[in-house]
Amino acid sequence: MKLYANVIIDISSEKLDKTFQYEVPEHLKQAIRIGMQVLVPFGNGGRRIRGYVVGLTERAEYDPAKIKKIVQINTEGMPIESQLIGLAAWIRQNYGATMNQALKTVIPVRQKTAKKEKKKICLLLDEGKAKEQLLDYRRRHSTARERLLEALMDNPRLDYEVVTGKLNVSASVVRAMEEQGVLKTQRLRDYRNPVRGLERMESHITLNAMQRAAVERIRENAKASNPRPCLIHGVTGSGKTEVYMELIRGAAQAGRQSIVLIPEIALTYQTVMRFYNCFGDRVSILNSKMSQGERYDQFERAKNGGLDVMIGPRSALFTPFPNLGYIVIDEEHEGTYKSETMPRYHARETAIERAKMAGAAVVLGSATPSVDSYYKACMGEYLLIEMKERVHKKPLPTCHVIDLRAELRERNFSVLSRKLQELIEDRLRRREQVMLFLNRRGISGFISCRSCGHVVKCPHCDVSLSSHGGGRLLCHYCGYEAPMISLCPSCGSPYIGGFKAGTEKIEQTVKARFPDARILRMDMDTTRQKDSYERILSAFANQEADILIGTQMIVKGHDFKNVTLVGVLAADLSLYIGDYRAAERTFQLVTQAVGRAGRGEKPGEAVIQTYSPDHYSVKAAAVSDYGAFYDAEMTYRKMMRYPPVWNLLVILTASKDERLTAEAAGDIAAHIEAANREQTSSNKLLLIGPAEPAVAKVNDIYKRVLYLKCGEYDTLVKIKDGVETYMQNHSAYREVMVQFDFNPMNGF
Ligand code: ADP
Ligand code: ZN
Ligand code: ZN
Repeated sequence: MKLYANVIIDISSEKLDKTFQYEVPEHLKQAIRIGMQVLVPFGNGGRRIRGYVVGLTERAEYDPAKIKKIVQINTEGMPIESQLIGLAAWIRQNYGATMNQALKTVIPVRQKTAKKEKKKICLLLDEGKAKEQLLDYRRRHSTARERLLEALMDNPRLDYEVVTGKLNVSASVVRAMEEQGVLKTQRLRDYRNPVRGLERMESHITLNAMQRAAVERIRENAKASNPRPCLIHGVTGSGKTEVYMELIRGAAQAGRQSIVLIPEIALTYQTVMRFYNCFGDRVSILNSKMSQGERYDQFERAKNGGLDVMIGPRSALFTPFPNLGYIVIDEEHEGTYKSETMPRYHARETAIERAKMAGAAVVLGSATPSVDSYYKACMGEYLLIEMKERVHKKPLPTCHVIDLRAELRERNFSVLSRKLQELIEDRLRRREQVMLFLNRRGISGFISCRSCGHVVKCPHCDVSLSSHGGGRLLCHYCGYEAPMISLCPSCGSPYIGGFKAGTEKIEQTVKARFPDARILRMDMDTTRQKDSYERILSAFANQEADILIGTQMIVKGHDFKNVTLVGVLAADLSLYIGDYRAAERTFQLVTQAVGRAGRGEKPGEAVIQTYSPDHYSVKAAAVSDYGAFYDAEMTYRKMMRYPPVWNLLVILTASKDERLTAEAAGDIAAHIEAANREQTSSNKLLLIGPAEPAVAKVNDIYKRVLYLKCGEYDTLVKIKDGVETYMQNHSAYREVMVQFDFNPMNGF
C-alpha cells in the first residue's frame, strides 16, 4: 500500500488550504508524522524546497504515476510551525473539523499588506561625549545639529519622521552627523506593540508563605519529564496572579516564554498594567478587536524572541513561542475557553496537548474551578494546589441570602429586597460603593413561580424546559414537549412565567428609590462603543459613581477598593438555563460576584436574592464552600450521566431541506446504533434523539441534533470518525452539513 503526504509549501500565506501531494518513500513511512518539515521537488525544474506535512493518506489525488516523492525529512531543529501543525492535527482528530479549519485556527494568516518598516535615528555617543559635542555645535552655531543632538540626549532613539518633521532637521544634516559618528539611522520592523506608550511603575510585592509554597510546588512538578497540569484553587484575592507572574519571571530568566490566557472581559487595563509593570515591553497582548495584521505582528515578535509573555483570550494559546515554559489559564472555569465555531476546541485540553509537545507546564487557576478540572484533580490527573486565604488574611464578605418568595408574601414587589435597600442606604451614607449584579446568562426562557420558586423541568433530563413560540415548553436535550401553563403546578399561584428584568429596568428602580445616588450601568447596550467598557470601569474606580449596575461583565478583572456591598439581584437566573452546567454556573457567578466586595481596607458584605435559597449552589456560594458544592454537583452528574463522569457528544446536521436534514440525522443515528451494537457494558453508549435543537431553524437552515453519552471519550472520537466516513460515502447527503461538539459548554 502506498502512502501519500499532503504538503503545504507556503504556510504564512493566505493559501493554507493549497496542498500538494507527494508519495512517501518506503524508508520514510515509519518516521513520517503530520507537522514534519520535508524537502520536496517543486515545479518543472524539480527545484527542492521545504514544506510541511499536513495530512497522510492512502488515497492518491491524481495519477499515482505522476506523483513525485518526498526527498527527505528535516528533523534537526524542529521549527515551531511543525509543532503547531501537529497541534492542528490533534485538534482535528479530537473535535472534528477539516484539517484546513484546524490549520487556520492555529496559524495566523498573513494578509497581503506590505511589511511596515520604521526608520529610526539612534544616538551613538555616551553622555559625556554627547555633552562635549553639543558645546561644539553651539560654538559653531550649527543650530540644526544642536537641536537634533539635544533631542537625542532626551530620547536616544527617535523616529525619522519626527526628526525631519517636527524637529525640522534636513536629511543632509542627518547624513552628515551619521558620517561624523554621532548617530546612526536604522530600519526597524514596526511591530505596533499594543502595550507601547503605557507608563511603567515598578512595584515590588514579596510573596507570602502560601504563594511561595504554590510557586515551589509548581516548579518542582514542572521538572518532571511529563509534568501534570496544576490546578490552583485559590479564593478571590488570594494572590494567584502574583504566583503566575513569579513563575513566568523565573521561566523568562531561563530563556523560556509563557502564555497567559484570560477571558476577554477580564482583560482590562488594570490586569494588563500588572503584567506590564512586571515585564515591560517583553509582554504583549492579543484581543479580538485587533486586525489580522496586528495579530500577525505580535506573533512574529513572539517567534523572533522579542517577547517573554503573551496575554490574551483563547486564541493566544497559539502564540508561536519557540521555547515555551508555562501556559497559564486564569479563570479556567470560563465557558469562553471553548470555541463556538468549528473546530469547537477547548483551550484547556488543547493547552495541555500543546504543553506536552513543547515540554511546557500548564497552570490552571480559579476561585471556582470547573467541575471537570476539579474532578481531574481529585483523580490525581492534575496537581491540586489550594490557596484558601485572601492576601493579608482579609476576610471574605459576610453573605445574606434573601428569599424572594418571602418578599412577595410580605407584599414587597420591588426587585430590591428590604435588606438590600437598607444596606445600600447605609453605604451611600458612608460614601462607600455598591455593585448590583444581574445574573443574565444564555437564553433565559425558563418558567418559574415567583410565589413558591417551582421551575418546570424535563422529566427525562432534569434540566428546565424553555418556553417557545406557539405556547409550548421544550427540552433542549431530548426534544420532550409540554404545553404552556398559567398556574403553578406546585402551589396553584398565578405568579408564574418568565423572569423579565433587564439592567435598564433595574437602573430605573434604583434611581427612583435612591434619587441622590450616582449610578453607572454596564451591559451590552452601554458598552457597544469602543473603550466604553474601560471608561465605565475607570469612572467607577475613581469613585465618580456610588452604584454600578451590570451583568456578569462587572464581576471580572477589576479591583475596586471602595466597594463594600455587592447585591446579586436574582441568583436563579442562571440556575435554569436548560443546561446541565446550570448549577455550576450559578455557583461560579455568585461566588465571583460576592468576591468583589471588601477588597480594600474595609470588610465587605453581600446580599444574594433568590427564589431558591435552599439550592446547594446558592447555599455553598454564600459560605464560600466549594467542597460542598462539588460533592452535591457530582452526585447529580453521576446520576444523570453527565460530564465529567460521562462524556457527551452532540452531532448536528443542518441543511436548507428540512426533510433531508431529518433523514440524515435519523440515518446517522441508525448507523451509530448498528456500529455499536456489540458494545461492552463498560463503555456503554447512550443515544438520544434526533431532536429539534433550541433554535431549530436559522436563516432557512434546518437543524437536528443527536446526543451521545458515553463513559469513554475515545469511543466518541471513533464514532465521530465513523460518521465522517459515513457522510462521505453517502452522496445523497452532500448538501447536509455535519458538526460535532464534544462536551458542549453552551447548549446547542
Ligand atoms: P487573585 O488573582 O487570586 O484574585 P491577586 O493576585 O489579584 O489575587 O491579588 C489580590 C490583591 O492582593 C492584588 O491587589 C495584589 O496586588 C495583592 N497582593 C497579592 N499578593 C500580595 C502579597 N504577597 N503582598 C501584598 N499584596 C499582595
Ligand atoms: Zn408555585
Ligand atoms: Zn429532556
